Amino acid sequence: MNKDELKEEIVYYFKKQYELGMLNTFEGNLSALYEEDGTVLITPTQQDKEKITPDMILEVDMEGRVLTESEFKPSSELGMHLEIYRLRPDLKCVLHNHSAYATAFALVGRPLANDMAESFMYYGGDIPVCPYGRPGTDDVFKDFKKFFVDRDKDVLLLANHGLVACGKSVSDAFNRAEAVEKLAKITILSETLGPDNPLAAVEKEALLDFYKARRNSSSTFLK
Ligand SMILES: [Zn+2]
Repeated sequence: MNKDELKEEIVYYFKKQYELGMLNTFEGNLSALYEEDGTVLITPTQQDKEKITPDMILEVDMEGRVLTESEFKPSSELGMHLEIYRLRPDLKCVLHNHSAYATAFALVGRPLANDMAESFMYYGGDIPVCPYGRPGTDDVFKDFKKFFVDRDKDVLLLANHGLVACGKSVSDAFNRAEAVEKLAKITILSETLGPDNPLAAVEKEALLDFYKARRNSSSTFLK
């Protein structure tokens, strides 16, 4: 995939989140690492998603310097995106949104536990809550190492804020964000019906092994 195609993919999945109600008009951000030259391609700040085009995607280096001549500015969460690429060289896309059901868990500070087998395989176990940091500042990612490196997580809830989902491609990160939002919704619905029926710990371990093997393979999608 060349750089222009990657920009098109960023726009496609950014807009798709909007169409699916996972983002408001001016919320959220999405970036991808272009491996050929090490640049990060990121959505502009405060632009109407319906009007975003690939030529509005900004190119920055790993120090956050903007390389594109543009009237637009990169997302205010650029620092968070760069920190994830620094911590986890295997991740090539970072997606941040405030999707409603997942963010509800972030607001009450409750990790999203996972007893739904197929969803388990999309993001590898529970989704923890990272302590609060003010949006748009370095505080947001001060604890990221504990989660992305020490716990090898690909998806994180941000306390009182929203969701970060990462992957080795844009579609991979989007897939996780969508699966997490659905899981959060199903969890809330299931709790109105009664106690859940937890998966056995040994089965969770087996599913986690499956997740990690698939994460390292060429395809991250279930057939
Ligand atoms: Zn945010």
